[in-house]
Amino acid sequence: MVQPALACPASRLIQLQSRSAAGLQPFRRLLAIREPQGVVFHCSDGQQPRDTRHAAERLRIMQGYHRAPERWVTVTDAKGQPVLGRGGKPKRRNEGGRGWLEVGYSWAFDDFGNVWELRGWGVVGSHTAADPDGRGSLNFRAHGAVYLGDGERPTGAAIEAGAWLVEEHERRFGPGFVVGHCEVSSAGKTCPGRGVQERLVLPLGRPLMPRPGGSTASAAGVPAPPR
Ligand SMILES: [Zn+2]
Repeated sequence: MVQPALACPASRLIQLQSRSAAGLQPFRRLLAIREPQGVVFHCSDGQQPRDTRHAAERLRIMQGYHRAPERWVTVTDAKGQPVLGRGGKPKRRNEGGRGWLEVGYSWAFDDFGNVWELRGWGVVGSHTAADPDGRGSLNFRAHGAVYLGDGERPTGAAIEAGAWLVEEHERRFGPGFVVGHCEVSSAGKTCPGRGVQERLVLPLGRPLMPRPGGSTASAAGVPAPPR
């Protein structure tokens, strides 16, 4: 179910930005998510955007990297000899991109309150391959929202932008889970950053799996955005 992408946000702090506003390459049509069940939060862990224009530039770089083909090269030492890895095989390293059809996330948000449309609503992602509860990869049943930066100290505007994405998800698809990447995959490790996790994800109390010593609150109802 692909729905109209942009709706009016309730908060004056939030500014919705289209793909063309970010100067992204034209979108490639992808599979629809049949029944979206929740949102996985991520961080880009790259440079912290200085302003809105810089955030758009970071998104263009991200899209280029995600769409560029993989390019595997043999790792060599100072003498140009192949470095051997486990099993005595030459080590190889990807110096290209990810080889995906499109930028991996559904939406991005930043410290300036911008909510950037990437794949948008109702489209499968390339953000969370994990299947933590045995019901299938989250790429095919969750939207991926990426904070631009390391996610350690998001601004109030960023938290509000992330909370708006959760509210909009609920308006369109009904109540669902809200998790940080680190909760559902060891690949996520520190993603979406401590600040995003503690100020945005955890206060919503909508885990996919029970949290250790934490909230097991149901996914029904969206609390007010944390301040
Ligand atoms: Zn992540």
